[in-house]
Amino acid sequence: MSVVEIAARRSWKPPDTRLTWEWADQNVKLDPTSPYQGYWKSEISPWVRELMETFSDNEVSDISVMCSAQSAKTQTMICLLMWALAEEPAPTMWVTSTAEEAAFLMKTRLIPTIKACAPVAETLIEDRSAVSKMEVHLKGASLGVVGSSSPSRLQSKPVRWLFLDEVRNYPEGALEMVLKRTRAYWNARRCIVSTPDNHNDATHRAYLQGDQRVWHFKCRSCGDWFPMSWEYMKWTEDEETKNERGYNFDKLAETVRFECKCGEVYKDEPADRRHFVNSGKYISLNPNAPKNRKSFHWNALLPPWVKWRDLVEEFLIAKGATYNGDTSPLKDFINESLGEPWEDRLGDFEDFGQLQKRAGDYALGDDWKDEEVRFLAADKQAKGGIHYWYVVRAFAKEGAKSRLVDYGQVGGDKELLEVAELNNVIPDNCIIDSGFDTTSVYKFCQRHGWKPMKGSGTQGFKHRNKKTGRMSTQLWTWTKAEVGIGTKEHGLHKAIRLFLWSNDGLKDMFAELMQGFIGDWTIAKDVTSEYTRQVTAEKRVQTIDIKGRSKYEWLPVRKDNHMLDCELMILVASLANKLITQTYTEMETEGLE
Ligand SMILES: [Zn+2]
Repeated sequence: MSVVEIAARRSWKPPDTRLTWEWADQNVKLDPTSPYQGYWKSEISPWVRELMETFSDNEVSDISVMCSAQSAKTQTMICLLMWALAEEPAPTMWVTSTAEEAAFLMKTRLIPTIKACAPVAETLIEDRSAVSKMEVHLKGASLGVVGSSSPSRLQSKPVRWLFLDEVRNYPEGALEMVLKRTRAYWNARRCIVSTPDNHNDATHRAYLQGDQRVWHFKCRSCGDWFPMSWEYMKWTEDEETKNERGYNFDKLAETVRFECKCGEVYKDEPADRRHFVNSGKYISLNPNAPKNRKSFHWNALLPPWVKWRDLVEEFLIAKGATYNGDTSPLKDFINESLGEPWEDRLGDFEDFGQLQKRAGDYALGDDWKDEEVRFLAADKQAKGGIHYWYVVRAFAKEGAKSRLVDYGQVGGDKELLEVAELNNVIPDNCIIDSGFDTTSVYKFCQRHGWKPMKGSGTQGFKHRNKKTGRMSTQLWTWTKAEVGIGTKEHGLHKAIRLFLWSNDGLKDMFAELMQGFIGDWTIAKDVTSEYTRQVTAEKRVQTIDIKGRSKYEWLPVRKDNHMLDCELMILVASLANKLITQTYTEMETEGLE
């Protein structure tokens, strides 16, 4: 049969009127890497049907999908690829992060699927060179796979169908380069499917440029439509599910639920999980986007095969790691499970407006019926004559609830003692920073029964649990301090207890308190800007270590941060008194010192 003859015959073939997903239901078989056998079924992941329908629309040039991992995304693209090769054959390219991965995908998934898909298999050219490592030749079409780090291959001949997989791993500029490949076709389609990485990166931008269709569900009780947000995931933290060593995830799992704003509770059980799939639909958050750009988003709360308890466990462990200064697990959770770009939420603290949200309905010095204990923390300064900055904060017995009672600046030791007395804080609950003028601060503490405290650059302090033998990392510890060391008074006094706290880890936790992520940390409604200026005097910035992992550290943005130090010392006191619990990750002792 001549080429002209094939072309003539093809033009007589009536166009298939089935929707793309109906076509795939009847023609695409799952490849051997899939846990399932037989034909692909769109009813397993019906949320991909709408995006598949937009794929066959010639008015659409760009489709971008920003979603969680393990949610049928690559299989969806394979189905669309088969439809394109069978129904509208044209030069086609599939780009993935590396050439090795591209070849592997070709061998294990694309070629087996082509051979098992009759309408595509019958167009395979009968020649030994028809199928190679990176290319498949079909009658009227070709399919090439490319790694994103091969610039020359990204720039070669024009294509109509372009599939872009895991764009987050492409090198800088690769996406822009490859997108130009479709310019020769008025009816080209460029399809980006990826989990996102950082805020405003290529995947995120492509999503934002589209009409932003987000999967919503209809609550069976109130009837309203809601996105499947993480904010609705709830679990119970009580004595059963959490102790000072951490979470009991089996017990916690029994309490994991999805709670609508109206109070309706959905459980992690098949019937409830199918509700989100069967009652759901996409709602466009950017309906004014250009008609040719469509974008879709869903997260791991949606696919019924992803257990909610696993997501909650992953989230809590990741959050625990942030207290030790490692934000990588939390970033992974947000990217891979929520399918959202990472943006450091603890970073923007220069904004006082956010702190004003923590203002309670009380004034400084007001009585509080829930009060269990109060602490005073002071920071000694020499500039402009010896003086102290101080903060007094009261705590309820439970729920990590606290109130700001008093703060300010006083002249000397005598005045500081008076402030403690006026505020009814017993000496045992008074703390003072010993980082400056250490010798006299130690003496002051010994004389008056106060506690010295000092910030440390250590990421955390390792503790061995005597019962279990397991190591854990805490944000604070204590050690013995010799009073009068280096002076003739050395040895005359009993050693006192010096408390140490991990600077960055504790500040991360404090930032979470200030943003209302933990408990109910509040400030009085009549605080002045001096207080807000000082407690927000540092900013969290991202740094990348030599292994390429992101870390965060706190840097000053304003000079005076004394009341921030006071609040941090009070946080140590509340942790030491178990008024707030730190969730820390336990590690096996094996292999660790
Ligand atoms: Zn509801």
